[in-house]
Amino acid sequence: MTKTADGKTSASEADEFFAQNQQAGNLFQFITGKQFLFIIDEPMILPTLMFIKKIPEQTKKQIYILKKNDSSLHSYKGTEFFPNEATVLSSTSSEEIYKIFESQFIGTKLFLSVQWSMLKELKKLALRAGFNEDEIQAQGWGEKEERVFCVKCYHLNKLTAQKQVTCEKCHASLEVSRHYSRLHDAYLGYLKIIS
Ligand SMILES: [Zn+2]
Repeated sequence: MTKTADGKTSASEADEFFAQNQQAGNLFQFITGKQFLFIIDEPMILPTLMFIKKIPEQTKKQIYILKKNDSSLHSYKGTEFFPNEATVLSSTSSEEIYKIFESQFIGTKLFLSVQWSMLKELKKLALRAGFNEDEIQAQGWGEKEERVFCVKCYHLNKLTAQKQVTCEKCHASLEVSRHYSRLHDAYLGYLKIIS
């Protein structure tokens, strides 16, 4: 059983964190369930652990933390937020994570709290392992690499701050539209008509 100590220092640290990271306030939706599985990326540890702390004790929790470097993990390990159930994975392959997903009981709710660059891949693995879309909550962090879909050659280009991009592949001038294509996971880039 997890015992929670009344660490005043940690609580105020957490408040401070929330004040600085408004995103953390709406990390995940609170739901009920028998079994929760968390995959957490290291920069996401604190807000996610704070969310986990609010989950009723009768809910079984499996928590996997993907380790990037020792230093930041160290600062959480001693705090009241660091749960006993947490497993730190120092090197992770898709294969390993897939095995974790695959070995879950039916009805397990999955919470992904990772950087954008990993989120899509993990979600794909989870769906392949048998999770339903509505059993997964995903929170991406960090810089999101957005892309522009070239309507001419179907190449996915990096989205820059510019309203226009030149297709990396066919060199067409593309106007970045506001239309986001879920299919291509990118903004549609329309051909620019040069006047
Ligand atoms: Zn193109």
